[in-house]
Amino acid sequence: MHTTVFERDRPDARVVADSLTDSRLSPFWLDDLPERPARPALAGTENAELAIVGGGYTGLWTALLAKQRNPDARVVLLEGKRIGWAASGRNGGFVEASLTHGEKNGQTRFGDELATLDRMGMQNLDEIQQTVENRGWQCDFERVGSFAVATEPYQVAELEEAHDGEHELFYDATAMRAQIASPTYQGGLWSQRDTALVHPGKLAAALLTACLNAGVEVFESSPVSDLSAESDAVTLSVRGGGTVRAARVALATNAFPSLLKRYRLHTVPVYDYVLMTEPLTDAQLASIGWQGRQGVADSANQFHYYRLSADNRILWGGYDAIYHFGGRIRTEYDDRRESFETLASHFFTTFPQLEGVRFSHRWAGVIDTCSRFCAFHATAHQGRVAYSAGFTGLGVAATRFAANVMLDQLAGETTERTSLDMVRSMPLPFPPEPATYPAVQSVRWALDRADHNSGTRNLFLRTLDKVGLGFDS
Ligand SMILES: Cc1cc2nc3c(=O)[nH]c(=O)nc-3n(C[C@H](O)[C@H](O)[C@H](O)COP(=O)(O)OP(=O)(O)OC[C@H]3O[C@@H](n4cnc5c(N)ncnc54)[C@H](O)[C@@H]3O)c2cc1C
Repeated sequence: MHTTVFERDRPDARVVADSLTDSRLSPFWLDDLPERPARPALAGTENAELAIVGGGYTGLWTALLAKQRNPDARVVLLEGKRIGWAASGRNGGFVEASLTHGEKNGQTRFGDELATLDRMGMQNLDEIQQTVENRGWQCDFERVGSFAVATEPYQVAELEEAHDGEHELFYDATAMRAQIASPTYQGGLWSQRDTALVHPGKLAAALLTACLNAGVEVFESSPVSDLSAESDAVTLSVRGGGTVRAARVALATNAFPSLLKRYRLHTVPVYDYVLMTEPLTDAQLASIGWQGRQGVADSANQFHYYRLSADNRILWGGYDAIYHFGGRIRTEYDDRRESFETLASHFFTTFPQLEGVRFSHRWAGVIDTCSRFCAFHATAHQGRVAYSAGFTGLGVAATRFAANVMLDQLAGETTERTSLDMVRSMPLPFPPEPATYPAVQSVRWALDRADHNSGTRNLFLRTLDKVGLGFDS
């Protein structure tokens, strides 16, 4: 067992404490948006051709693409709180082409169709870029690519192995540090095409405006408590009174409990933590370089992801992934001092030259982890209800693909998308409590051990890998 660089080269405890003193518990991306009046809550009974539950990226893309396919269709979107308040307004803003949560996971689970999935994922990312540009969305979209960096020697070989030549550049430690000046770097791989960065809150806001302009009827503060299907319609009941009767329903509820009870154990909500610095001065930015403004992720099982914002803050997130017994989602879980201190400590290990920089914001978000790490696409009630979830922390782009899958399914169309094994197969569900909690803790413990053992996975993880339940990120 060896110690990691983040344990060997810890900053002074005072530096960490000071950096968090004035941080505000709130997602920067939502704070950075202009106030907008709330949409009305649903009251009375509405009829619709398509009703969508959930107002994050999945629900918004489903609504917008539905209107593009059929401008005359009546489309209603019901959001329990505010549009974009959840994962879609608090993520890292990495818009990634991968539909499979990375090459390795895609290769293991869908090796035969990975080339098709990669092509469709890149097309999805290209279409997002075209939409942003053609519609003039102001969401700080930058197609800068991403760096996978090695912070331990054993990871360098993994990156070299992953390097497939096309649109990828491998850097040894010296060359990598010339790109971005961190003493932790042992090497890096720049994937130039497969990642863009975006301001997540502005993307959700732009999607909402586009939906409204297209005639989508959007209701906020309208949590759906029940779904029931009769012969001629699906009825959604909103807590507090209103009802929607729709011919078709798309469920876009991410980490929140599924309205289809049989899929409740197909995801578990896992908390991910994020810090945002104050804007760097020109001198601070010059001290790290980062001229290409790429997104960065390091390569351990427990990894950090980080990037620059348009106003040159650094977003720094990841590492800890916290599951609460019973799959509970509670506002008070957002403030986890231990996780924020760990993140801040690892930040200053990575960029010691930024000692003295403060974090202006800290927040958490819930990830819809499923056992295969990439979205599943279920249908119910004779194909009148579609449900996509399980993005496992990689959904900024994949949610748009999922929206198209759901619309294909609801139209009863057989398409290249609906024919994919990834779309037709389902992940294994998690065991019910009290088994889930110890299972998730054991996996976390085993992943941490692997990160201290040159990435070598113990028997427990290898067994999970074999049954398709390998938790590797
Ligand atoms: C901290 C963090 C960092 C991340 N970083 C990245 C990243 O850099 N790149 C990336 O690709 N992915 C990232 N992700 C994942 C990505 O944000 C999500 O996959 C994506 O936003 C999911 O969108 P969604 O619409 O499915 O879910 P959400 O944005 O969670 O929206 C679901 C909505 O459904 C509503 N809802 C739920 N149940 C009901 C109900 N019964 N009635 C009415 N409304 C309901 C909720 O209120 C919510 O608004 C990150 C996630 C987190 C939490």
